[in-house]
Formats: sequence, C-alpha cells, structure tokens
Amino acid sequence: MTIIASLLRNAQLPQSPTERLDAELLLAAALGKSRSYLHTWPERIVSREAAETFEGFLDRRRGGEPVAYILGQQGFWKLDLEVAPHTLIPRPDTELLVETALQLVPATPARVLDLGTGTGAIALALASERPAWQVSAVDRIEEAVALAERNRQRLGLGNVQVRMSHWYDALVCERFDVILSNPPYIRADDPHLVAGDVRFEPSSALVAGEDGLDDLRVIVAQAAQHLLPGGWLLLEHGYDQAPTVRELLVAGGFVEVSSRVDLGGHERVSLGRRPC
Ligand code: GLN
Repeated sequence: MTIIASLLRNAQLPQSPTERLDAELLLAAALGKSRSYLHTWPERIVSREAAETFEGFLDRRRGGEPVAYILGQQGFWKLDLEVAPHTLIPRPDTELLVETALQLVPATPARVLDLGTGTGAIALALASERPAWQVSAVDRIEEAVALAERNRQRLGLGNVQVRMSHWYDALVCERFDVILSNPPYIRADDPHLVAGDVRFEPSSALVAGEDGLDDLRVIVAQAAQHLLPGGWLLLEHGYDQAPTVRELLVAGGFVEVSSRVDLGGHERVSLGRRPC
C-alpha cells in the first residue's frame, strides 16, 4: 500500500532538469487527476494499477522520452494540445510569434497562413484570440495534418482550415494578410540534436541543411507571391540567425524589417512587410 506523497518522494529522474515537476505531471496523469489534487491529498492511497502505470511512465522518462510525448499533450498559449512523435512539441519561445502577430495586425477580418503547423499550435492560438481571422494551417506531413485537425475540432475553432501542403505548393494563387512560420532551423551538425529530449522529436521538424537556413530561404523567397500588399511575414529562427534572416528579408524586397527578443533574451522572431 502506498500513498501519493511517498510515490513522489521516491520518484528518481536524475537526468531531468525538472525532476519534481515531471514526476508530478506523470503521477497526476496516472491517476487521471490534476497536479493540485496531489498537493491537496498527499496521504491518499494509490491503487496498485495506478502505481504501476506511474512506474512505467517514470521508466520512459528515464529513457529520455519527453513528458509531453508520454502524456500525449502539451500546453501552448491558453490551449491544451494533443502532441505526437510526428511533430515538434510546441515551445514557449514560439508564443513570441503569436504575440507579435496579435500586436501588429488589427482584430478586423484578415487572412492568415501558418506554414508547417505541426500540432496546429500557432494557427489555433491566433484563431482563438481573433475570431474574425480566417486561418489556414498547412503541413507536408500527413500525420501532422490529422493531428492539427483533431486539435482544431477538440477546441471547436471554426475559423481554421487545416490542409496538406509542402510550404506554399498547394496554395497556388492564394494570398494572405499575414504569413507565419516556425520552420526547422537547426544546423545538421548541431550537437544539441544528439542530447536530451530533442532526440525524440522528428528531424523533419528540426533540421534544415548545413546552416539551418534551407527552409527559411524557401519561405522568404516565395512569400511575396502569397502576400497581399502591406502584408506581414513573421518567422521564428535560431538564437544566432536574426541578422541573416533580416538580410534575406531585405534582399527579398521586404520593408519595416526588424526582430523581436524572446524571454531568454535572444532575437527569436524576425519580420518584414510587403510594400504596398
Ligand atoms: N527551438 C527549437 C529547439 O531549439 C527548434 C525549433 C525549430 O527548429 N523550429 O529545439
């Protein structure tokens, strides 16, 4: 017989920088309860079945699997999203992209495109904040399209359309007021790819050629064809890529080019406007 408090006390996840939080999230999921339940009822007895489920979760976490994949969900913005190993786990950094778009563009009707939507995080966050916007979310991976669509349906967001497209390929002749993307931007030889949680994420969502800029180049080069006059392009990129991405934007004819800083103090988002 075991109680909540002792299960948490004995949960060892030495390789995780967020050991206690991980253990609480995993135990709450094994019990089908919230984290606050654990703090309210530390003396509650845990069934053998739930304790075994929790031990199974801890084993997976010790093997390096991200908590979000074990739980099958991750919070982003104000939304709970289903996640799966076909797509990137949404990062808090990416909320800067959402915030920047909300600041730049008025809440009146607008056509918005999220390229490489993955879970649908960016598109769904924007659509939830701006009911007047029509948001298109595209991904080239079939499982990602299905996942984003499930998230859309669960959240009941009727102003998002999820479609399959490799960047702009299926969007011939379509034009938008805003295009956003958090594309792959990691260098193929980046040592981070072989350590920690990121090992479990698909390289299709992370890696973009030798310098990490292959996909950003394609997105910038074809953006003007898909933006309405005065429309904005907003891009997430690596912590050291802002000067290069600004150069790409200027070379592509964009004006009002600038970058925004994330919570870690890195220039994480760069943007530009198609001239009128
Ligand atoms: N920011 C992510 C990381 O550092 C990468 C996201 C991406 O490639 N778009 O792991």
